Amino acid sequence: MPDLNEEARRAAHHGPMPALPPDPYRLPPPGDWFASDAAHHLLDKPKFCPGCSAALDRGLITEWWSGTDRVFLTWCAACKWTGNVVLFDRAIIEEPEH
Ligand SMILES: [Zn+2]
Repeated sequence: MPDLNEEARRAAHHGPMPALPPDPYRLPPPGDWFASDAAHHLLDKPKFCPGCSAALDRGLITEWWSGTDRVFLTWCAACKWTGNVVLFDRAIIEEPEH
């Protein structure tokens, strides 16, 4: 079994990364141009459905980028919810008077 910590360390050319969780899919070989992106996807992808809270282990999650935003197109096998979950660095939020 590959040492995931070692693979993450070698793939993380953007800096140090925490230990990776178990993944049923193999990460690309360290040094491949997308190895760091694949490792970050494994760490950051949604784990639970925003619609029904079921684990997304049997769902589909595809990541794409829009500027600096990371967009996870997500499908839940339990409730069939489909939508985007977006990770962003900054947001401007207006809060109503209370
Ligand atoms: Zn769901």
